[in-house]
Amino acid sequence: KTFEELKLSEPLLKAVYSSKFAKPSRIQEYALPYLLRDPPEHLIAQSQSGTGKTAAFALAVLSRLNYLDESTQALVLAPTRELARQIVNVFKELGKYTDAKICEAIPEGTQQSAPLVKSHIVVGTPGTISNMLKRKNIVKDKVRVLVLDEADHMLDLQGLGDQSNQIRRLLLPDIQVVMFSATWNDKVLKYATNFMHGKFNRIH
Ligand code: AMP
Repeated sequence: KTFEELKLSEPLLKAVYSSKFAKPSRIQEYALPYLLRDPPEHLIAQSQSGTGKTAAFALAVLSRLNYLDESTQALVLAPTRELARQIVNVFKELGKYTDAKICEAIPEGTQQSAPLVKSHIVVGTPGTISNMLKRKNIVKDKVRVLVLDEADHMLDLQGLGDQSNQIRRLLLPDIQVVMFSATWNDKVLKYATNFMHGKFNRIH
């Protein structure tokens, strides 16, 4: 398949080609059609780092944004700040020909805390994102997509699974949930089933 066949918009195609991606990676080819379905459906994808998974969900989220609205429309949860930073960079690169505004959620006590986040997409660890939602630094009303990257890794880190559940409960019930996990086991399956209320597509 080609990126054109995946029905990406012109600005996204331009960014993809300037990134020297010749064609979609396997995960992009399989995940994007699910992610772009209308109405949106939940997805869990088993995919390791290095497979192009970040671009897969970044392209999907960038495709779904309403650029006429400045509200926060997507939240991306990552287990570490390092990964959050890398995800932000991928979004910025692939969104460079769009008007998408992307930011990393910075923990309390550092620069960003007070003002409301004016970004279409906010990326951060579950602890920081849930604090920002509770303090209303992130406005939740227009959030339509929640991505959990490295969900298996999050479940292995103390508290991150619970914090992600809290975030899910703070958001509107009908948002689209997208999970990526490098490994697949009973713990991940149980968590995903609960998180997505049992209704999700799965690819691996
Ligand atoms: P990931 O860690 O899975 O997000 O993927 C990491 C690497 O894959 C990054 O260096 C990307 O630039 C690269 N990548 C993503 N999509 C493609 C693609 N379609 N073709 C070639 N490389 C890609």
